[in-house]
Amino acid sequence: MQDTIELSYSDVEQAAARIEGAAHRTPVLRSRTADAMAGAQLFFKAENYQRMGAFKFRGACNAISKFSEAQRQAGVLTFSSGNHAQAIALSARLAGIKAAIIMPKDAPELKVRATQGYGGEVIFYDRYTENREQIGARLAQERGMTLIPPYDHPDVIAGQGTAAKELFDEVGELDILLVPLGGGGLLAGCALAASKLSPNCTVIGVEPEAGNDGQQSLRGGRIVDIGVPQTIADGAQTSHLGQHNFAVIQKLVSDIVTVSDAQLVETMKFFAERMKTIVEPTGCLAAAAALYGASDAGVVPMAGKKVGILISGGNVDLARFSKLVSA
Ligand SMILES: *Cc1c(COP(=O)(O)O)cnc(C)c1O
Repeated sequence: MQDTIELSYSDVEQAAARIEGAAHRTPVLRSRTADAMAGAQLFFKAENYQRMGAFKFRGACNAISKFSEAQRQAGVLTFSSGNHAQAIALSARLAGIKAAIIMPKDAPELKVRATQGYGGEVIFYDRYTENREQIGARLAQERGMTLIPPYDHPDVIAGQGTAAKELFDEVGELDILLVPLGGGGLLAGCALAASKLSPNCTVIGVEPEAGNDGQQSLRGGRIVDIGVPQTIADGAQTSHLGQHNFAVIQKLVSDIVTVSDAQLVETMKFFAERMKTIVEPTGCLAAAAALYGASDAGVVPMAGKKVGILISGGNVDLARFSKLVSA
């Protein structure tokens, strides 16, 4: 087991200073209809309007901005099912360094093309039979590139936390913060931000029903590894939480709940029809729990509360979007 370093709010604060000017300060959306449905005041932090379309730019940009000259010379390497790949490719291009990205061969077409469009070199693998961590470690050694994984990295966690920092800075303290959960970079980072800026806030992770490894892990007190979950939330198809992530989540996160794929589709429709915004399936996780109730625990009790909701990304191509919402 690898050692975990102690992360704190100051890491998020430093990340915010590093990415300032490079990352967008995304809007906070409100909807009376959504408030009525949830019986609460909802504040949607719209990271679907972040650069490259998801919060992942924050962590990648923060990690790469800390590179030494030698690291910059060799470039950056990562593995990702999509948004982190684009985040690394774009951050590398902005920093003027090379990027190689290991992607599953069944990754959404839009995400592959976007990564290549940002100048990243894409290396494909089979996510059901090959181990991307092993491929990544081998390539890092062969090419001397620095591996920045999608979630299990202190600088990535700190960077992702800047999304919640901006939300608290803008709307003040919250009673509840709902955050989409895959490997735990966003949830851990946001929990660090909440611990300082809204210490009484209940932080809750939301993951797909088919992939409730995070819930099992938090409740069981150890990282539980499941098979690759079959869900439309492709950004949360992780089989286990990261070590660094779990250390923070265990300390600062109150609970992890799940939502079904059908609820994610309802939420995509709601965002498009009522709020005029396109959100990818994974980006809907937290909102689905607020609008339609967590599928396992009924509802997250939020009547009359001030609730923050992370919309984590908007990268879904129109063909997939229309297929999902018309099914
Ligand atoms: C990566 C991703 C997630 C999950 O983030 P983790 O840091 O892995 O927990 C959620 N939503 C979107 C859109 C993502 O790209």
